[in-house]
Amino acid sequence: MQNVETLKAKFNEIYGQAKLRVFRAPGRVNLIGEHTDYNGGFVLPAAIDREFLAVVAPTNGGEVKAFSMNTNTETKFLLSDIKHVPGDWGNYMRGVAQCLQNTGIYLRGFTAVISSTVPMASGLSSSAALEVLTETIFEKLDGFHIDPVDGIKLCQKAENEFIGVKCGIMDQFISKLGKKDYALFLDCRSLEYKHVPLSKDAKIVIVNTGVKRALAGSKYNERRAECEQAVSIFSKHKKGTLLRDYDLNDFQKWQNELPEVVRRRAKHVISENARVLDAIDALKAGNLELFGHMMYESHDSLKNDYEVSCLELDTIVNTARKTPGILGARMTGAGFGGCAVVLAEPRGVERFVQKMEDDYQKEFGRKPEIYVCTAEDGAGEIKT
Ligand code: ADP
Ligand code: MG
Repeated sequence: MQNVETLKAKFNEIYGQAKLRVFRAPGRVNLIGEHTDYNGGFVLPAAIDREFLAVVAPTNGGEVKAFSMNTNTETKFLLSDIKHVPGDWGNYMRGVAQCLQNTGIYLRGFTAVISSTVPMASGLSSSAALEVLTETIFEKLDGFHIDPVDGIKLCQKAENEFIGVKCGIMDQFISKLGKKDYALFLDCRSLEYKHVPLSKDAKIVIVNTGVKRALAGSKYNERRAECEQAVSIFSKHKKGTLLRDYDLNDFQKWQNELPEVVRRRAKHVISENARVLDAIDALKAGNLELFGHMMYESHDSLKNDYEVSCLELDTIVNTARKTPGILGARMTGAGFGGCAVVLAEPRGVERFVQKMEDDYQKEFGRKPEIYVCTAEDGAGEIKT
């Protein structure tokens, strides 16, 4: 487990004594609303207690230097000469710095040691957390104020344009604006958002398949194109630019005009948006069974209609279905590996973890990593 003292000791060892400030930025789990963000739809993520920590000293020069205790490597760059360096994790920091500077903000350099408990490339959004961490460090060290939503958009822009990953805005949004014990309902088109209290009677359990999402990139782009194709056909009947503009009634009326595969992709997105709204109503009414039911329906839709699940994710959801005290489960993140999220009654957690390890061991010959999580605040400075 990481702690600030370990990071400070590392800083002293590499960069010498300095007065250090401490920052954090969390990873996230999406409870429901998958593959809806880039369709302008609804999502319900929570920031989790797996997070980045950074100990940081400002410098007067124009250089950023950061050491990652996870990769055991240092990245560095000059703020006056930012270039993409293939394969370097520092690109996430470079991208954010460049986007900030492009808005006319003057940045100063810093030296940092970072460490993270967000597993990399597992669908809990370590990349967005690293971007939001960087933006937060610059903001606090340089003392400028940026509207949080503008800061979030800027981090997304860094990932879209500097890294070249066409992600939606959910991940950066929740890493910045998460709230302890709350999930966040976000309308990905208007960017209106609302914190929704999570019940103390439900625990969030995340199971990591450990499967690297090799196909994720190409399939992700393919799905985006299929959604656009559905919109191009629906928009002949009713004005719209994203699948968000169409509801289940519209789908019923015009679904037969879509090629079969595209029809199923649209069905997932449109029904998923409706499920997010139903799930929030269930949460507000304290009906955790219904919320869990929506999670299972979401998984089935992602598996059968959107076709982004895999055997490992389906195995996790099947174990959840068979375990007393489990309310619901689904794959979370882009799919093809990564993680599943499980909602458990407190009494069900221990039994589920045991059963999950056994089932996974039997099926795949190894145990999955399992994180029992709490919902946490978004990124910020830790006053020490
Ligand atoms: P995800 O966002 O789902 O975790 P991505 O592939 O989008 O997966 O981002 C993972 C990348 O983020 C890593 O390859 C690495 O470049 C960077 N990264 C994440 N965590 C760390 C870390 N602790 N130290 C250095 N780089 C990190
Ligand atoms: Mg990412």
